[in-house]
Amino acid sequence: MTDWLRSVRDAVGGTRSLVSTWQARAAARPVTPAPAGLDVDLALSHDLDELAERVARVLEDGTLHASNPSYHGLFVPPAHEAGVVADLLAATFNPQLGATWHAPAATEIERSTLRYLGALIGFAGPRVHAAFTSGGSEANFSAVTTALARAFPDALRDGLPRAGRPVMIASAHAHDSFVKIARQTGLGERAVLRVAADEQQRMDVGAARRCIARARARGERPFALVATAGTTATGAIDPLHDLAELARREDLWLHVDAAWGGIAALHRGLRTWLEGIELADSVTWDAHKTLPIPVGTGMIFTRERRWVERAFAVQTGYVPAADADDAYRTSVQWSRRFAGLKVFMTLAQLGAGGIEDMVARQLATADELRRRLRARGWAIRNRTPLPLVCFSRQDLDAEAAAAHVVDSGRAWISSVQLPEGPRWLRACITHPQTGSEHIEALLEALPS
Ligand SMILES: *Cc1c(COP(=O)(O)O)cnc(C)c1O
Repeated sequence: MTDWLRSVRDAVGGTRSLVSTWQARAAARPVTPAPAGLDVDLALSHDLDELAERVARVLEDGTLHASNPSYHGLFVPPAHEAGVVADLLAATFNPQLGATWHAPAATEIERSTLRYLGALIGFAGPRVHAAFTSGGSEANFSAVTTALARAFPDALRDGLPRAGRPVMIASAHAHDSFVKIARQTGLGERAVLRVAADEQQRMDVGAARRCIARARARGERPFALVATAGTTATGAIDPLHDLAELARREDLWLHVDAAWGGIAALHRGLRTWLEGIELADSVTWDAHKTLPIPVGTGMIFTRERRWVERAFAVQTGYVPAADADDAYRTSVQWSRRFAGLKVFMTLAQLGAGGIEDMVARQLATADELRRRLRARGWAIRNRTPLPLVCFSRQDLDAEAAAAHVVDSGRAWISSVQLPEGPRWLRACITHPQTGSEHIEALLEALPS
């Protein structure tokens, strides 16, 4: 073995030990941060070993620990060792993925990873375009930008004000990144027309149809229908087939935001819940929310790459030999980090079977939580096949109950305010090691 490969192996060994020691430690300490007197100063130390130790100490005290299996929170799984090793390698080589010729190996690793995951949601074939993004927000931004480019090609040159009043239709439960996107694109917040949901927080298709008709009657120009597969608050999956049919009839771009709900594609038994997603024009899916991977790996899948090219392609005088596929010509980013390596290496190390087992365990744990909450007099409020449990009790204020749990340091949960009014407690099983003992700890930390 060359010295070079020996140092790769040493780095892997050191990183694995760092990750496993840290995760054992995180599991044994309070979930919540205790940031009293955090000592953060650029003059911490000039010695790298000492500097790293000081940073580790500051992070340990000042972080909400999603690496603890009692964190039942906002789609932040712990990082599996493969992803940490991948980030180290990516940072060491520092390939620039903006142009294919600049990083051919890294580009191919990303493309094959995206082909694999795209196939799970019916996005396969030469016309499909897929890219890693910083997260779901950037992926949703790409989708809206691409849908605008399809519907209003002149606006790419002349600006949106010349396009009349473009509007998009989304459920009341759609992610609020669309509000920011409406501001950023210059559409304005009022261009997001919110549609009521049914009693299971799924978009009401009839209400969506009426919303489109009313918008047209007002002289507005609907261009996109946004469905959510796995809402952030309650894990609801909108009726994708019916919405695809509506979008087709109304000539609207159908975007499916499956930032977290994409987890269903990783489990054979859950995949049927995503049926209809293959009819979308674009899909958002966050690897970092659905797999144990460090943050920074959203994904955007687009059915027809020509619209992506229309939205993003530019000519430059300074990037040599442009390839039509170069990422800077087909996505929001220009300089591009090798984010996909952590997805590739995590999938490769765990294997499809290992991933499916992990999701199965999360589902079983969520079922156990539902059962034991009911046995203690709590009402389960949401209906979803995904491992997200919303619950409440008549006599308890949900916000105060969540604060009670968080203050105990024994578990982390949150409360959600629904657009329809009620506030519920929310526990999402995101840690692959969460099991009966952590459910027990949560039940004990809840007010009695
Ligand atoms: C988290 C989330 C997003 C935003 O994704 P980021 O990776 O945090 O940018 C978008 N949509 C849904 C449904 C989400 O749950």
